[in-house]
Amino acid sequence: MSIPPVFDAHIHVQPWHMLHAAVRDRLWHGRAGLERVLETARDPATLLRFLDAEGIEQAVLVNYVSPDVMGFTHETNPWIADYVRGHEDRLVAMGSVHPRHTDDAAEEVARLVEMGIRALKLHPPHQLVRPNAYLDGMETLASLYAAAAQAGLPLMVHTGTSIFPGARNRFADPMPLDDVACDFPELRIILAHGGRPLFMDTALFLVRRHPNVWIDVSGIPPKLLLDYFPKLESIADRVLWGTDWPAPGVPSPRRNVETFWALPLAEASKRRILRDNAIALFGTRARFGTGGGA
Ligand SMILES: [Zn+2]
Repeated sequence: MSIPPVFDAHIHVQPWHMLHAAVRDRLWHGRAGLERVLETARDPATLLRFLDAEGIEQAVLVNYVSPDVMGFTHETNPWIADYVRGHEDRLVAMGSVHPRHTDDAAEEVARLVEMGIRALKLHPPHQLVRPNAYLDGMETLASLYAAAAQAGLPLMVHTGTSIFPGARNRFADPMPLDDVACDFPELRIILAHGGRPLFMDTALFLVRRHPNVWIDVSGIPPKLLLDYFPKLESIADRVLWGTDWPAPGVPSPRRNVETFWALPLAEASKRRILRDNAIALFGTRARFGTGGGA
């Protein structure tokens, strides 16, 4: 059986020109083919050709606002919305409401939906926020979750450590999302990176406990996936494929898919992980087709 067309739920096409110099140097240090990577962020046609060559049919383009730590301003949202315009059948624009830099999160979610954002990212170590801080008075977070749930936008949350300059790893633990999953049962939550590397047991626990929680496996070397998650098969209907491309450790998304395809998992599970689960969360190509697009 051949590998199905892939839905990569975790790719980074971001406004790299906004990055703080120290972060930029850390991120791109030793990245082969950097010029090509930067070109994909300037020109969607270049990205689509790359995805074709890598066997990726659809992708979520992960973006978030983090002016203080990373340099990504509020302009990040319209930037990615503009980028995907006309390619919505293949590209999902993921944007962000920064809970510490937004007064009215509900209004901001409505504005983002209007501009074409179809999923949201929360990055606790880069936005310096604990996901359950609404229990201690951070009301922006509660209205963000309620508005995202009501608008049907999945919320991806970075879980696990980050080594970028300025990142704070006291926000890396996914366990505070236990509260969020309980208090906002309609909100679909994706634990990016499955808590790698310190919190993978917590991530597994959260997926098994809560029907509204998924993980993506981006950033986990595919050949080690079953070492990290020996019970992956038991949660296969809520695991999303993601590569974290163009992270320096991911030269070729296709090679990662091939390594994953060789793992001893049921073929039906592999198909769900590579494609079907993401379609259920983010929609089919046809639903967002523009009629004239590639
Ligand atoms: Zn990522």
